[in-house]
Amino acid sequence: MRKVKRLRGRAGQAQRLRRLKRTNGLCEMCLGLGRVTEATRVDHIKPLDHGGSDEDSNTRNLCQPHHLEVTAEQFGHQVAAGMRGVARNGRPIGLDHAWNRSGPIRAARAPPRLPTPPGGRK
Ligand SMILES: [Zn+2]
Repeated sequence: MRKVKRLRGRAGQAQRLRRLKRTNGLCEMCLGLGRVTEATRVDHIKPLDHGGSDEDSNTRNLCQPHHLEVTAEQFGHQVAAGMRGVARNGRPIGLDHAWNRSGPIRAARAPPRLPTPPGGRK
């Protein structure tokens, strides 16, 4: 089977952005679940490695957790143990994690701490 090469470099970037715009940059699988999540991956529905085409009709926009999920399914293995829990960028992967659930955005950081006055607080 002839493997399709994906576009690289500037052309690949332009293609990726154009594809992400189809769903306003949102994950299609999350939208199907009624969630609004930023898509960070353009996924090939049928992987190029499995003979899929690099056409728009064979792609979908996914968030990182969904991309890991479908990739693990497509390639017939579980998400690597090291990838469980936290992504490389430090964000939690689990769709049930509070960060990945839609809803009111809560303050991500603790309130700033006041500097301790010289001599300590009384
Ligand atoms: Zn998603």
